[in-house]
Amino acid sequence: ANARIGLVGLGVMGANLSLNIAENGFPVAVYNRTGAVTDAFIASAGALSERLVASKTYEELVAALPRPRAVIIMVKAGGPVDAVIEGLAPLMQEGDMIIDAGNADFHDTRRREAALKAQGLNFIGMGVSGGEEGARHGPSIMAGGNPSSYEAIREIIEAIAAKHQGQPCAAHFGPDGAGHFVKTVHNGIEYADMQMIAEVYGILRDGGTERERCAPAQIGHLFEQWNKGPLNSYLVEISGKVLQAFDPETDRPMVEMIVDKAGQKGTGRWTAIEAITLGQSPSAIEAAVAARAWSAAKETRRAGAELFGDLEAEPLPRPSEEVLERALLAAKIIAYDQGFKILSAASEHYDWGIDLASAAEVWREGCIIRSALLDDMASAIREGLPHDQLIFAPRFVEMLRDGAGALRQVVAYAASAGLPVPAFANALAYFDTMRQGRGTTDLIQAQRDFFGAHGFERVDGGAGQHGPWGGAAG
Ligand code: NDP
Repeated sequence: ANARIGLVGLGVMGANLSLNIAENGFPVAVYNRTGAVTDAFIASAGALSERLVASKTYEELVAALPRPRAVIIMVKAGGPVDAVIEGLAPLMQEGDMIIDAGNADFHDTRRREAALKAQGLNFIGMGVSGGEEGARHGPSIMAGGNPSSYEAIREIIEAIAAKHQGQPCAAHFGPDGAGHFVKTVHNGIEYADMQMIAEVYGILRDGGTERERCAPAQIGHLFEQWNKGPLNSYLVEISGKVLQAFDPETDRPMVEMIVDKAGQKGTGRWTAIEAITLGQSPSAIEAAVAARAWSAAKETRRAGAELFGDLEAEPLPRPSEEVLERALLAAKIIAYDQGFKILSAASEHYDWGIDLASAAEVWREGCIIRSALLDDMASAIREGLPHDQLIFAPRFVEMLRDGAGALRQVVAYAASAGLPVPAFANALAYFDTMRQGRGTTDLIQAQRDFFGAHGFERVDGGAGQHGPWGGAAG
């Protein structure tokens, strides 16, 4: 045994994670299905290649590791993970551990954990965020599985993770799928964050009078300014950079050369699906998933533009940049509230015991949704959330009392101008529902009782009551 840990899959993430582990002083045995990739990786690793052990077979990989062995899998999610486990597990011995560091569906993680446990092996489902750069120099890491297995690799994980004021952005969140679920919700929130920034871009690009409409670089410059204030975050920062970039071939703004069809690998959708299964509805996240799905129908949208594109709108005045900034901040807080609620509902349902504050803490650095606001969120959650609502935490109540009007102004403007802002609009609808002590579902309950005798609860007491619908019912 001449390595401390093994890693399978030298794609973008696996190669960078291996270098990160090696740089932190832990020798890594690496394996890739296509052997030539392993050779090229070792050849390009420079001085770090001394801490890399090239393995051409699973047997070689396993033989390079001390017991209990730990092997990280970093391949495409889904079938490839099962294929690697199938190759690796028979060569491992009781107490050894497999760590899936890809973007797995947490249901798969639960299934794999149970199957490997039956073979005497430990399985850690571990979400890693931060893209290529994060994997190389410090990602945010969300682990799940047997706590004693996590303890065995904790030293390595904390060494390679991003740091927030010296604290590693890595944590163990609970058994089986807990870590991958926290990563899934992270990605769901990421979808909402990205969509809301894109909605502001749309308003500035397409809204207002001819003279008010902004070129991408102007919007990018504005985001660069916002990044110095309360919206300081990785996504606002990179949006500012992206919008100020020009296509070297045509000299036109780079974004104008990009087809407006968004891709998705599933994590945003999984967040929405699981939330709905648990009786929740993270409307801002769902809206972001929907916006990407709608965008894919480019030809249909072109046909729609022919039919309806010229519909007259009577737009209100376009909100100022300052109003847009406050609206984005308010909508973001609301989307995060929804994200934390799903975490809490799933944790209860699957008995994970997820510490929500710890999730906010590991998201402060290294990951795609890192932002100044997450530090406030972590503190608010540690202090305890009234009614489990982030939007009720005193520091956010203040921000929302200030920002809700701006959000309303932006949604009203967008509706009047015919510009779609699904994430903003859904965040606002959720917020307005949560501040309405008496809503309109009294009528829904009456309707349900009328046609289905479902019964309702009376305001003056008594469940299972029925209305005087008489013979009309049914
Ligand atoms: P890449 O596409 O760069 O690499 C894929 C790797 O998977 C290659 O090493 C490939 O081997 C291997 N592979 C594919 N199919 C099989 C198989 N059937 N058996 C064995 N190995 C296989 O992927 P990424 O590095 O981008 O992503 C890896 C994981 O990390 C995914 O789950 C992804 O969702 C997740 N992730 C990615 C992020 C990113 O920014 N890219 C961020 C966070 C998570 P071969 O060379 O032989 O084809």
